[in-house]
Formats: sequence, C-alpha cells, structure tokens
Amino acid sequence: MSSLLPVAEALERVLASATPAQPLVELPLIDALGAVLARDIVSGVDVPGADNSAMDGYALRVADAGQALPVSQRIAAGAFPVPLEPGTCARIFTGAPVPPGADAVVMQEDCRQEDGRVHFTAIPAAGQHIRPRGQDVAATATVLRRGRVLRPQDLGLLASVGRALVPVYRPLRIAVLATGNELLEPGAGPLGSGQVYNSNRFTLAGLVRSLSMTFVDAGIVRDDARATAAALQQAASRADCVITSGGVSVGEEDHVKAQVQRLGELQLWKLAIKPGKPLAFGRIGRTPFIGLPGNPSSVFVTFCLVARPFLRKLQGISEPEPPLLQARAAFAVSAPGSRQEYLRVSLRAVGGALEAVPFGNQSSGVLSSVSHSNALAVIPPGATVSEGDMVQVMLLDLLA
Ligand code: AMP
Ligand code: MG
Repeated sequence: MSSLLPVAEALERVLASATPAQPLVELPLIDALGAVLARDIVSGVDVPGADNSAMDGYALRVADAGQALPVSQRIAAGAFPVPLEPGTCARIFTGAPVPPGADAVVMQEDCRQEDGRVHFTAIPAAGQHIRPRGQDVAATATVLRRGRVLRPQDLGLLASVGRALVPVYRPLRIAVLATGNELLEPGAGPLGSGQVYNSNRFTLAGLVRSLSMTFVDAGIVRDDARATAAALQQAASRADCVITSGGVSVGEEDHVKAQVQRLGELQLWKLAIKPGKPLAFGRIGRTPFIGLPGNPSSVFVTFCLVARPFLRKLQGISEPEPPLLQARAAFAVSAPGSRQEYLRVSLRAVGGALEAVPFGNQSSGVLSSVSHSNALAVIPPGATVSEGDMVQVMLLDLLA
C-alpha cells in the first residue's frame, strides 16, 4: 500500500471491472442527444433517395451541350420529373430530382438565355453537379455503431435515414455523496469557523450530467462511522454507482473506507497522480463505488482521469477514454516528480500550433485553476519539460 499506483494501471483495473449491463430503451430521436446507441443502425434507404441537382441551373444531356436548347420542363425540389426529351434542357433547382436521360447540370451562372433558348458557356463533364442516389448513405450501410454517444450531427444523420426512435442504453444513475463536518451548502447561511461551502457536490453533479447520466443527490454526511455507513447504503440502493468526495485519506476522521469495507469490498490506492493521490474503488453490496479525494481540483482531475472512463464503459460506450492532443509547453518543469502531474493549462493557438500556458497556482485546493483552464497537460513521473517541448494535453471540453 505504500508504493504509488500508476494512473494507467489504476485505469486498467477500474476498466476491467466495469461490466456494461444497462437495459436498452427506445427513445424518441429528439430526446436522444448524449445517449449511447445500443444497437448498430442499418439505414434501409438510400440518402439521397434519387439523383438530384447540387445547383440551381439546367439539366441536360452532355451530348446536347454544344447547342442552344429549349427548356422542356421545370423541376423544383420535391417535384416529380418526366424523362428529358432529347435536344432540350430542364430548368432545375438545388435538391430537385434529375430527370431520367439527363447526365449533367450546368449552374445558371454558366448559362445565357436568348430567344427562349439556353446557351452553355462550357461543355459539362458527365455527372457534373449531380448528387448521385445513395452518395451519403447506401441502403445497406451501417449508419452508426452501438456504443457511440449520440451527438447533434448523429441525430441528424439518423433522421436522414428516417429513424424516429433509437435504441439506447438507459442512462446510469450516479449517486454523489460529500463527506465532511466542515461542509455547508451554499444558501444555507454564512460560513462558520472552519466551514467551507460544499463545492464538490456541484462539480460532480455537473460532471455526471455532462456525461448525460442522472445525478442522484445523496447530500452531505458527517465524519461519523455510523452516519457514513447509513448514507453509503442509502446511496447504493438508489443508484448504479456511488461516488463520494473526501474521507478517504488515512486520518481518524476518514470513515469512508472502513464503512465500504464493511458493506462490500474496497481497494484503496495511493495513486501516482497530482493533484489527487488517495482514491478508493470497490463496491457497496453489488453497487460500484468510487471514493474521490476531498480537495476540489483533485476531485475534478481524478473524476476525469479515473471515474469518467469507468462510468463511460459501464454505460456501454465503446471508447471510454479521452483523446490526447499535443501542445507546445509555455512552461518548464525542472524537478522531476514521482507522480503523474495534470497541470491545469489554457491552450491558445500561436503560429498554427497549440501552446499550453499553465494557471499560476496549481495547488490541489485551488479550484480556480480548473475554472480558468481549458485543458490538462500531462507530465509523466520522472519527466522534466523545457519550454517549447511538446506535451500531451486533454481538452476539458472533451472531459466535461
Ligand atoms: P478530506 O479528503 O476529507 O480530508 O478533504 C480534503 C480537503 O478537501 C479538505 O480541505 C476539505 O475541507 C476539502 N473538501 C472536502 N470535501 C469538500 C467539498 N465537498 N467541497 C469543498 N471542499 C471539500
Ligand atoms: Mg474530510
């Protein structure tokens, strides 16, 4: 227990124990933003359903384009064209079906009307400005795969193949319990001596909701063994996972780990992570449990690094881990640390590259460091960094 567990190993262990088992529900497409697709979706229709015009202009046979052509029909979007008579062209608008027989569209800017005929300034290539049937999605294509979080453009894509209902995994219910005698809810009055407002509840509620999961408010529990046991049990009965903040260090007032041990199973790790370090993982009865540290920015970082991938996997997401990008360090780390450090940084674009500028105070109690940053820069244990070196970064917008 005395040696520090590397972040990657902790992640591997928590991911190995995340067994997705959420039941499938059918949601109206309009309500499915952020939900996780529970089945592969096969289109069943071609998109577009017919060859159609990409431009406002004239549809014609390429072979006829050398001569001025009379207009034999007018086709607007949603209209039904008749076959194009040879030696004529059709007035056509963007999105309108191309008439059988036509093999190109000339945009109106390249046409001239004279004596009731249309003259073409250049000979079009076959297929020009025609969007072929099935170009976006073929009828047999798998549109989206299960395990994917539905984004706005995905909802649009599913609508384009005519889906009205989508099979998704029921959102996880995540109970959040804050521990500490010193905690006061904002709005409950001015702070007394030694008190702090319960900020972790709000950070964690936001993190849970930004994963499109259901936040179950388990409130605050005092630093007391019996109260902690009751609160943990109550939280576990109401949720698919319990997350606590605080009370997992080795102090006498830290009751979470002993009570989880009594009610289920506990692994307590000292993570090689900064900010962070103490992290508990296990179950209360059969309900998964994650005990985050108490310090507000440690809560944010350990949630993003460990809890978030765990919850995403539990929810059925096929790629639960966040992508890493590269940025140029606008800072130096001269003394190598023993823990993997997640510096709160602001990324800005400088000369076509991303540059990472760290927030001034990186203390684990300073939540401003997270609020005034948009990324975490990863500094591996033992590493030093010189200004200008490339470092790995995680965008907070991809985490929360
Ligand atoms: P602990 O891990 O319980 O010893 O807490 C570590 C530090 O985090 C202490 O300074 C606590 O006051 C602070 N802390 C714990 N829980 C919260 C919370 N819910 N909101 C704000 N600060 C907290
Ligand atoms: Mg505490």
